[in-house]
Amino acid sequence: NRKVAGNANPGDTLIELATRVKGQAREQVVDLAWREWPVGKRLEHAMVKGITEFVVADTEECRAALFAEGKPPLSVIEGPLMNGMNVVGDLFGAGKMFLPQVVKSARVMKRAVAHLVPFIEAGKAAGAAAHSNGRIVMATVKGDVHDIGKNIVGVVLQCNSFEVIDLGVMVPCEKILETARREGADLIGLSGLITPSLDEMVHVAKEMQRQGFTIPLLIGGATTSPAHTAVRIDPHYEGAVVYVKDASRAVGVCQQLQTPDTRAAYVRTIKAEHAARREQHAGRRVKGPQISLAQARADKVRCDWQAYAPPLPRQLGVRVLEDYPLEELTRYIDWTPFFQAWELRGRFPDILTDAQYGEQASSLYADARRMLRSVIREQWLRARGVVGLFPANAVGDDDVVVYADADRQGELARLHFLRQQKDLPEGKRHGALADFIAPAGVQPDYIGAFAVTAGIGIEAQLERFASTHDDYSAIMLKVLADRLAEAFAELLHQRVRREFWGYAPEEQLGNEQLIREAYRGIRPAPGYPACPDHTEKAALWKLLDPQRVGMALTESYAMHPAAAVAGWYFSHPDSRYLAVGRIDRDQAEDYARRKRLPLAEVERWLAPNLGYEPAPATDGTGAPAAASVAAAAAAPAEAAAQLAAAVA
Ligand code: SAH
Repeated sequence: NRKVAGNANPGDTLIELATRVKGQAREQVVDLAWREWPVGKRLEHAMVKGITEFVVADTEECRAALFAEGKPPLSVIEGPLMNGMNVVGDLFGAGKMFLPQVVKSARVMKRAVAHLVPFIEAGKAAGAAAHSNGRIVMATVKGDVHDIGKNIVGVVLQCNSFEVIDLGVMVPCEKILETARREGADLIGLSGLITPSLDEMVHVAKEMQRQGFTIPLLIGGATTSPAHTAVRIDPHYEGAVVYVKDASRAVGVCQQLQTPDTRAAYVRTIKAEHAARREQHAGRRVKGPQISLAQARADKVRCDWQAYAPPLPRQLGVRVLEDYPLEELTRYIDWTPFFQAWELRGRFPDILTDAQYGEQASSLYADARRMLRSVIREQWLRARGVVGLFPANAVGDDDVVVYADADRQGELARLHFLRQQKDLPEGKRHGALADFIAPAGVQPDYIGAFAVTAGIGIEAQLERFASTHDDYSAIMLKVLADRLAEAFAELLHQRVRREFWGYAPEEQLGNEQLIREAYRGIRPAPGYPACPDHTEKAALWKLLDPQRVGMALTESYAMHPAAAVAGWYFSHPDSRYLAVGRIDRDQAEDYARRKRLPLAEVERWLAPNLGYEPAPATDGTGAPAAASVAAAAAAPAEAAAQLAAAVA
């Protein structure tokens, strides 16, 4: 059956070939000339161009030459390597060089430094110390697993002579602060992608204050924002708290903070900006929903269940997919988000010939294709997943019951959805995903669930790259693993429509049409705008037990491995990805009752969706409490970031 998938994009192979040939030609031309230059110039050139091939030999030659002149090994770093790095930094800062090149330059730098370290250590007795702009401890906070953006920031900072101590993902507050204290850190950087991480960052700020820290705290990651930083974090910490939008801003911020002449004025400016933002925020009414929950329910999306028979799945129950062929997954990759991850914005495949990014994008794409071949041939990664189809019906107004079997007696799980309460344009109904499932007693209906990962085995490869100081390959592999997981979700959804559920056996869509979602049905993911509550992943886990394929949930309901996708399948032709947006207290209370949770807990998980000021948190800090999350946190920003690709 899979033979008819027909999603191989013949254009892919051609493009790949073209970039490869072009890349080779370019390198060959440049190759011969620069190898004749003096060694210092060669090192600079290798840095700027990101060429690792000769760097160890050149570094050694340079070290020996300087040694003969009575200069220490450190002068290789302070001379040619720093010169090269400065050129890279200037070009990147001026927008003339792009992120992938910077990461490649960093790889050259790290290899050279690794060669020099033993010599420098030997000379330490003489009191030599490498020049450092400062030491930063970085971490993805507890409960969160995403770190590609943070890795990139770390590399860019290292390129600018900052010492980076990266503690990885899911790092508890205590470990971050302990490390910072022990290592005498000058800065702490926190990263997070999912909504619950916002709370964890507030916690770290409070702890820094309580434990008497004074060093700056940097905040970054998809779900963070200037408003959240100003309203929720800054009031808890007297030291500097700085929101860092992306890798290109990180160096500027850290340099300002680390330069004695600029620090005080810079921190004053930042603090004043935060205060202004807080004032603005306090003066603004929270943009709340416009109608009551009862009104919204009265205006729900009505599918015509009389004139429609929900399709019966060919096979009910759970199916485990072990070791899914990676080669097959690669044909379903959506490449546009791949380039976004590297901060190259544009649509694939046009980006390969883009006037500004074309050359970089083509060479990056060739590298990605090359690595994918190794991933497949040498089985660097394994893709595994679970998919299930279950009898289900809508109950109450916004819930869905998943039944244990076809007689619809035993209840396996209950899914809780949220309903749009915002004012909608004329003719638009106030939808909830439950509207797309037939109500109990009206028609037998079904729902699907899936959880897939392409990140099994990634750690061993990442360790290997770490041992060769190869951040470029490490980041590349993480980005590719994410792409493969999304591709797996796409492929599996198609198989569900054609085979497992089987309501569209004749569907024939190419990859581009799949990316455009030109098929019947949707696969909404918990944590995204149609179902923004991450805790609903607990129901997915209950139904599918993805633990058996190596997938776990953190305490914040992030999925581990990070390269993972999970969600529900809806088959109704009218089903669509709605955005719940802001809800009012009446719905939060109703939701808390349905989920049998205290209101305060529901308000914490749904913070970005609250269209009202919840009662102040009772943590005794007297600070602007949970109240402000509603307006401060951008509406499900992690989703927005990931969806940019789909929507663009
Ligand atoms: N081709 C993209 C697909 C990811 S974004 C890629 O490779 O990255 C699209 C996915 O996000 C959808 O399949 C769905 O799982 C989720 N999604 C999009 N909009 C959503 C919404 N409003 N609510 C819930 N999930 C949504």
